[in-house]
Amino acid sequence: MEQQHFELKPLDFRDDPSPTPGSMPLRTLRANLRRELPGAGRTATVRPVVSPTPALLASVAVGRPVRGEFTYLVPEALAGNLAPGQRVLVPFGRGMALGFYLGPATPPVEGGVRLKAIQRVLEDSPSLPKDLIALLRFAAEHYRYPLGEVIRGALPPGLSTAVDEKAAKADVQHFAVALVTEAPRQLSRAPAQSAAMAYLLAVGGRAPLEEVAHAIPGARETLKKLAEKGLVRMEEVELKPGVREGLQQGRPAQLTPEQDVAVRELQGAVDAAGFQPYLLHGVTGSGKTEVYLRAVEHALSRGRGSLVLVPEIALTPQLVGRFRSRFGGDVAVLHSGLKDRERLFHWQALRKGTVKIAVGVRSAVFAPVENLGLIVVDEEHDPSFKQDEKLRYQARDLAVVRGKQAGAVVVLGSATPALETLHNARSGRYKLLELKRRVDDRPMPTIEMVDLRVERPRDGVVTEEAPILSPPLLQAMEETVAKGQQVILFLNRRGHSTILLCEVCGLSLKCQDCDVCLTHHRSQNRVVCHYCGVAFPVPDRCRECTGPMLKLGIGTERVEAEVAERLPQARVARLDRDSATSAEKLTELLASFARREIDILVGTQMVAKGHDFPGVTLVCVVMADTSLAIPDFRASERTFHLLTQVAGRAGRGKDPGRVLVQTYNPEAEPVKRVLAHDFDGFAHQELEWRKALAYPPYARMASVRLEGEHPEQTASVARYLGNLVGRHMPPASAGVRLLGPALAPIARIRGKTRWQLLVKGPTHASLAPLLARLEAALAEVPSGVKVVLDVDPGAML
Ligand code: ADP
Ligand code: ZN
Repeated sequence: MEQQHFELKPLDFRDDPSPTPGSMPLRTLRANLRRELPGAGRTATVRPVVSPTPALLASVAVGRPVRGEFTYLVPEALAGNLAPGQRVLVPFGRGMALGFYLGPATPPVEGGVRLKAIQRVLEDSPSLPKDLIALLRFAAEHYRYPLGEVIRGALPPGLSTAVDEKAAKADVQHFAVALVTEAPRQLSRAPAQSAAMAYLLAVGGRAPLEEVAHAIPGARETLKKLAEKGLVRMEEVELKPGVREGLQQGRPAQLTPEQDVAVRELQGAVDAAGFQPYLLHGVTGSGKTEVYLRAVEHALSRGRGSLVLVPEIALTPQLVGRFRSRFGGDVAVLHSGLKDRERLFHWQALRKGTVKIAVGVRSAVFAPVENLGLIVVDEEHDPSFKQDEKLRYQARDLAVVRGKQAGAVVVLGSATPALETLHNARSGRYKLLELKRRVDDRPMPTIEMVDLRVERPRDGVVTEEAPILSPPLLQAMEETVAKGQQVILFLNRRGHSTILLCEVCGLSLKCQDCDVCLTHHRSQNRVVCHYCGVAFPVPDRCRECTGPMLKLGIGTERVEAEVAERLPQARVARLDRDSATSAEKLTELLASFARREIDILVGTQMVAKGHDFPGVTLVCVVMADTSLAIPDFRASERTFHLLTQVAGRAGRGKDPGRVLVQTYNPEAEPVKRVLAHDFDGFAHQELEWRKALAYPPYARMASVRLEGEHPEQTASVARYLGNLVGRHMPPASAGVRLLGPALAPIARIRGKTRWQLLVKGPTHASLAPLLARLEAALAEVPSGVKVVLDVDPGAML
């Protein structure tokens, strides 16, 4: 692959005089053929014999794991019927393949090659809108993934196979509507019904059946039972564009002055109808969601669609609820659990413009919202926007690219913006909107530090292990619960004890297949590997010397046990991947905390997400330093984000909030800055450091990850790739650097040895030639070693 294709600028289709369906004059098409279309026609493999006249040529992405776009002939009969984004059937290899017509192609440089012809057009109107084609092309280039696969991955399954378009179904959706505002007591004996009811109430009393059924498995049956009891009503709604159900539930009459400024600015930008990115930096509880809602509302009033990306839908039903209750059937909620048929339904409704708003997780960045006017990325700093398999895209970054292609306003919102985003705002690339005060001028919570080196938790109460809750923490919890208020206790580690160590030889109990310690889960009476999932009975003796085992390292289970022991009067529950094993349990837990049936909620980062529980006035961080030691250049930033986010759960109601942070590392930068509410100071310090060491946002990175069955073979492939990069390194002045090859921080997972190389350079373009070399070399790597390129990597483990 040629280097000049790397910094592929997004195609701007607004300047493209190319075809509206069925109406392109031949002259225009010919003229288009002479224009340089980046990416088009460059890797045509189908080029045998000589053909005399240049004909109409099409650039097609083939739905196979092959890189590049392919050039095909357009048969006379189809010439007037092709529109970019259409699914077509093309000959490929020895058979037929699904293809996507992307636009006219330039004749291959060699000239005089004979091409194969498009066989058939599979649909009348294109499945892919133009701005999306441009986005998918960009993603394939940037993240180095086969374009056909990128497109297939974006499309709902019904459209990603080579079948003819099905007759479009009637646009009706079934809704469940709650007829009560509170779950009746007697439901607590029917957990499934109670969970379905809780979900419905959490999202504003009304939701599509399919959405509830996703959150709560089996909810279709359950809702029927609730309907029989007269608690729920079923509705069939015909989706029509522009018809609003006048649901204005929960719309505050008045915006705060800061919200007002932000909303006016965004409305103006939507009216200007061009690309404009914003960072909405608003402290926790400042009412960012209301700003999004008003901007979406405004876009809708101008006939433009909106796309709202959120980190995880199951964790934040409240946010979906706010959109649902404001816009009713105008919203498609796109979550990872949709069935094929439902994904197809939403895709078609959005594509036709019968539904104008999409709210979804990262993959929704590819949703075919019509006439896109606004893109919102909520909690834009959240690591879940990066996909860690297949197409390793960062949805927040793609959201900005898409906004540019579609001419839309983009709002990245957070209380703790990613440093990359902050940097873009400071350099003027994004406009900055700030909400510095909470709604109703509620105070920010006070944050106090508890130095664990001084405030020693009292000994001897919990028998087996040393306790972890210090006297100030216990006292604060006691007082809060006594006042009828609620507590969140945060520790980002699951399990009971996270290290089992032999008292005699000092050997820690590790997984046999992974390079990590096993975690003791007392509730399951097992030790578990958090990477491969293997579980064993708890050994009471060391494998090597039969010495007795010490249980060290604290997880959420143990904190929960200690709370229960020390505050027997309080109602305690735990929220982590082990307790919330299903969406149903998760919803029920969050709902019962919201109903104040739980006084103290202990949990991992799941408790730190955007929850809005007005009853919470105390947040305790059990140990602030757990994530600091992770060998990742973002460890400090993640720690700061997590602590700020969890602190932000306190004092969101009428009573002020208080935060206590236990730590052994009070001098650690992120801890100190969180205590001082000093985002700017933290960002300043951290950016200096990143600049000095040339890390993002001052550099672009790509990592090469290797995984192999045989340690020696994997190491030698890593060294081979390292040498290759070394040989093709540009002159030192270009500022490109290679780190590694080295064993990955977790050197073995599931029995596979892991290596990595990291290349860093001042721009993405500076890395492109090296990545191209690497990619070309992958063909020679023995099949026992799996190598992936990860452009703009997230976690470094
Ligand atoms: P953030 O996302 O910034 O943390 P939210 O959007 O969750 O904050 O808003 C916090 C709370 O304030 C929510 O309960 C929301 O309904 C409420 N709220 C937002 N804007 C207003 C307003 N203008 N007037 C009254 N309440 C508001
Ligand atoms: Zn393991």
